[in-house]
Amino acid sequence: MLAEVARIVATNLDAGGLLQDVAESIRRHFAYPVVGLFTLDDDGQALTLRGYSGVSVGPPELTRPGVYRQSIESGIVGTVARTGQPHLAPDVATDPYYHKSGDQVVIRSEVCVPILEGGRVIGVLDVESDRLADLPEQDQSLLEAVADTVSIGLRNARLYEESQERASALAVTLARLAELDHLKDEFIQNVSHELRSPLAIIRGYVEMLESGELGELRPEQRKPVTIVARRVRMLSDMVRNITLILEAEVSPPPPEPVPLGELAQIAIEDFQVVADQAGLTLHAQVAPNLPPVSGSWPYLRRLLDNLLDNAIKFTPAGGVITLQIQQEGAQVALQVSDTGVGIPSDQLERIFERFYQVNGSIWRRYGGIGLGLALVKEIARTYGGQVSVESQVGEGSTFTVLLPVAAEPMRTKGGLHGT
Ligand code: ADP
Repeated sequence: MLAEVARIVATNLDAGGLLQDVAESIRRHFAYPVVGLFTLDDDGQALTLRGYSGVSVGPPELTRPGVYRQSIESGIVGTVARTGQPHLAPDVATDPYYHKSGDQVVIRSEVCVPILEGGRVIGVLDVESDRLADLPEQDQSLLEAVADTVSIGLRNARLYEESQERASALAVTLARLAELDHLKDEFIQNVSHELRSPLAIIRGYVEMLESGELGELRPEQRKPVTIVARRVRMLSDMVRNITLILEAEVSPPPPEPVPLGELAQIAIEDFQVVADQAGLTLHAQVAPNLPPVSGSWPYLRRLLDNLLDNAIKFTPAGGVITLQIQQEGAQVALQVSDTGVGIPSDQLERIFERFYQVNGSIWRRYGGIGLGLALVKEIARTYGGQVSVESQVGEGSTFTVLLPVAAEPMRTKGGLHGT
């Protein structure tokens, strides 16, 4: 019987089902007319019958699991719950605690043992017989062993129920977070969409002003116009990063062969001016005869822009920035190194997270919104590549992007080469 009870406990994670099966198992083995298993209510004032096997002992609600409740103030069951001690009543007629509740079967003897958890009563196992002294003392020890096993089962059932409750609460929270995340993406998308057109117009006119197309600027106008132009370019870069990161996730352009060397040369020419202004040396070492990589020109241009932009931003004047591109087997490695401030080793993983910035609030002077590297990672991943970083604080950083060599031969040049 103990083996059977152990099996029931091991396979049942529902307290009610477990107690009912145990009640039936006890009755099958001992043929007692009444076997009842109670659990103590949360308020500790009453017990609820949770498993019952036996003959009818009166009105049906007296033996209905989940319905019948008994106060801890009355009867042998109540007494055992109160004292935490087993109780053997060889003749209930002379027992001071016996409380007659049924009338169809005459109960003559009774054994009642507590179900304990860490010394605290959590329930009661009650067995009754229609014969005098029918329940020997060894039955009491056996029932105590059963009660111990049941206690483990109840604990498991409770932990399982709690973990189920926690899991569903977590699922609700996760669904809510996903909804908020979606709303946030939608909001960012709308705002960046609204910013794009006016920014493009402003940028167009400012660049015309800057280049003198709208008339020669007076000397005192030149510096302010250059500043406005630079700031507008920063703003549109930022908005572009936002739009691309959202687009890359949902519908990135399909991969096509991209001549990375050519793309890099154009980027270097654009960045040369910025590097000069920042007092930095910008080197490029692009291996000749590079095979095209699989990607999209505007996306890969954005990837390179973001890496160069960071290298320039985080390197003090006098530093050196190097762009290296070479083939490595079936991949092309693009490397941007700088001699700048470097990144602490415990942050190397995190810098690729969206909106993450090392010492964000302290380093606000560097500008940016922490999306550049997240987009670099997203673009590399989209086209089957990967990105890694090595860095020493105070010495500099090297970002490496590996991109797969394109499978098909390159199509004729032309098409969209802008950012
Ligand atoms: P942003 O540059 O807009 O802050 P990024 O995602 O491009 O966002 O970069 C995240 C953070 O990683 C930066 O804020 C900076 O702290 C760190 N970082 C990126 N590139 C470099 C670099 N070349 N040198 C030092 N720190 C860098």
